[in-house]
Amino acid sequence: MKKDVVVIGAGAAGMMCAMEAGKRGRSVLLVDHASKLAEKIRISGGGRCNFTNRHTVPENFLSQNPHFCRSALARFTPRHFIELVEKHRIRYHEKKLGQLFCDEASQQIIDMLRSECEAAGVIFQMPCEVSRIDRDSGNTGFVLETSCSKVMADALVIATGGLSIPQIGASPFGYRIAEQFGINVTALRPALVPLTFAPEQLSAFSGLTGIALDTIVSCNGAHFRENLLITHRGLSGPAILQISSYWRPGDPIHINLLPELDADDWLRDRRHSGVLLSNLLAQHLPRRFAEAWLGAMMGGLPETPVNQYGNKSLRQLAPQLHAWQVIPSGTAGYKKAEVTLGGIDTAELSSKTMESKKVPGLYFVGEVVDVTGQLGGFNFQWAWSSGYAAGQSV
Ligand code: FAD
Repeated sequence: MKKDVVVIGAGAAGMMCAMEAGKRGRSVLLVDHASKLAEKIRISGGGRCNFTNRHTVPENFLSQNPHFCRSALARFTPRHFIELVEKHRIRYHEKKLGQLFCDEASQQIIDMLRSECEAAGVIFQMPCEVSRIDRDSGNTGFVLETSCSKVMADALVIATGGLSIPQIGASPFGYRIAEQFGINVTALRPALVPLTFAPEQLSAFSGLTGIALDTIVSCNGAHFRENLLITHRGLSGPAILQISSYWRPGDPIHINLLPELDADDWLRDRRHSGVLLSNLLAQHLPRRFAEAWLGAMMGGLPETPVNQYGNKSLRQLAPQLHAWQVIPSGTAGYKKAEVTLGGIDTAELSSKTMESKKVPGLYFVGEVVDVTGQLGGFNFQWAWSSGYAAGQSV
């Protein structure tokens, strides 16, 4: 079989790329080893797919080259994807901070992409394993051996995503192909992932699973105002997922438990109060958390009314309320991570087309590239934008 373009990976970026190439009259084969189409879209956004973010800017992405994503994001913007969603009459809503979700189900986004691909003449081949890729004899195209057929292609697009959630088909395929062609891959690690703690660090909070707090979480210069969730293994929730992408082993994380207050002023104004300190904190924090947190800070000493603490002790408490320090022992790993940080070194690719500088005709799109979005619809926007960029070039 001979095709103009073979795309490996029928996920978000792969389908976007395939349909755009198809619309330009290219013959396109889309290959995936999974039997179900785009499982990651299906499970995304709690089943409702946070498909983009209205306020997407390059600053929402992590990469060794923070400017790399600019060109693709400018050429295919959230507005373009919203137009596609509206064309297919998929109803959606903004949850918060520009995050757009389907009203009904993520499956609608999968069906939309599939029907756009089919209308553009894209042929799907799945489940299908790619066992070997070589340059053709003229060294301009590619020859692929797959479990379905032998295929020749002028252009090859790798859209096989990252390592997160191996249970639904994630594989290191894209990184291996990069290695085969001498293309550098930056260090990989799980991101947007719950953080774990040594048992003694959070033992005071062990009975508090499910409690959520409004916090500002900071690490290595990044800050996020989001909910933090106590879990049986440590800390999670959007605040922790966001900051996990900036955390490195050994780094402390600082948690502002009272983002709305100046704790120093607030405590000073109440220094003559006869209520227990935990009762005071419970005005702004869940009561059981306030008691446990105070117990941990006071080293288990019995609680006394606020007016017995003395100004110095109260003043020492304020910075701890605004910058409670915790040191994670690790992350929950790729099984729980939403994305993989790192990937195909952006120095190896054209930022306009996603084509390899070393291997003409070879493209990398989506999460396999060293461009990782923050939480909030940015990762899909990168998949659409990078897929579109390659789709215009192949
Ligand atoms: P993928 O969508 O992962 O697609 C890769 C495809 O390649 C898959 O179909 C896979 O089967 C195929 N493949 C892999 N290996 C091979 C191989 N060896 N041979 C053939 N095919 C192969 N992002 C958001 O922006 N909003 C959200 O709401 C959101 N929610 C998420 C929720 C969860 C639980 C997870 C895990 C992620 C979420 N993400 C979200 C991140 C988002 O899903 C990914 O960033 C995005 O899917 C990446 O798109 P991609 O096309 O690069 O890769």
